[in-house]
Amino acid sequence: MNSLISSNLLKNDPLEDQLPASMQHRPQHKATLLVIDDAQDVLDLLRAILRSHPYEIHTANSAEAGLALLPSVTPDLIMLDIMMPEQDGFRLAQKLLNDPETKNIPIMFLTARSDINSLQTGLGMGAVEYVVKPFNSAELIARIEVALRIKFLQDDLLRANAELQSMALTDPLTGLRNRRFLSEQLQDMIPVARRYNEPLSCIMLDIDHFKAVNDTYGHPVGDEVLTHLATLMKQSLREADIIGRYGGEEFIILSPRTNLAAGELVAERLRSNVARQAFETEKGALKITISIGLAILDPRSTETALGLIDRADQALYVAKNAGRNRVSVAPDYTALQ
Ligand code: GH3
Ligand code: MG
Ligand code: MG
Repeated sequence: MNSLISSNLLKNDPLEDQLPASMQHRPQHKATLLVIDDAQDVLDLLRAILRSHPYEIHTANSAEAGLALLPSVTPDLIMLDIMMPEQDGFRLAQKLLNDPETKNIPIMFLTARSDINSLQTGLGMGAVEYVVKPFNSAELIARIEVALRIKFLQDDLLRANAELQSMALTDPLTGLRNRRFLSEQLQDMIPVARRYNEPLSCIMLDIDHFKAVNDTYGHPVGDEVLTHLATLMKQSLREADIIGRYGGEEFIILSPRTNLAAGELVAERLRSNVARQAFETEKGALKITISIGLAILDPRSTETALGLIDRADQALYVAKNAGRNRVSVAPDYTALQ
């Protein structure tokens, strides 16, 4: 340890062992640091300095070795040398900042290059810190802490944002996708179906006489039925199917690569599963039925997302009028033109 302190990597300062004040402003869980430097004495020295702090430290002695660690190690900060024999730190940083998997990991250059051009290059490409060797260990820790504080704030923001986005596309009662998600998804699915010349099935289903369930047993029991139906749908459909709540007691199922025969099978199986089932509610087991309208997208047609949903809706209307608890197939788009 003492031999390390006397090395020319450190400015002559005693190793700082106490936690800096800045550390009190971030979560106390361990931060993961990845140090990439071709000089073993630098790696050893950093391990020695950082040992007494709440960091999990990984080291690599080349850009390639660092990259090899990245799938298994998710650092909160990468400390990077610039001058390395095979791939220099600038190139590696550029790679990391361009890769969606690593672009949010802050990079601190730790380098013997003290010229202003290198500093401008490093910070200009998106590194958050630039520390010149020999460095002061207390300053290094303080700068690591600044970078980590920002990293953890950014993690919180990204998490909150992802949660908000997911909430904006999810129906809170059933946990299914909501109408907005369904519309956006269908807009994306139709061009794909066209490109691969594949049909796409759109099922619209609606609970029969659902108003009577609410009127007889109360709204909370109606909610229970909706939740049970959502669960049943999730269980009986395939991974690739998109299920969503389109409105009050109306649901849509979008199935890629599904033609009329397959769509009818799916719809009929769902209808009979619901009719056979009794849903447990606080007012006892309730039986309901559903009516289904089925429309198939012809990939060669020019039908829009709204047009397809509208055809399924009209077929649903036919099923209702024909007595409910049944599947009705919409006429082809081309036949309607
Ligand atoms: P039909 O067979 O023609 O579909 O008859 P219906 O009674 O199911 O249809 P209607 O459109 O007349 O009534 C739909 C009912 O769905 C009325 C509304 O109170 C109920 N509903 C819509 N959203 C919810 C919800 O989130 N929870 C509950 N409990 N009921 C809902
Ligand atoms: Mg209904
Ligand atoms: Mg309805």
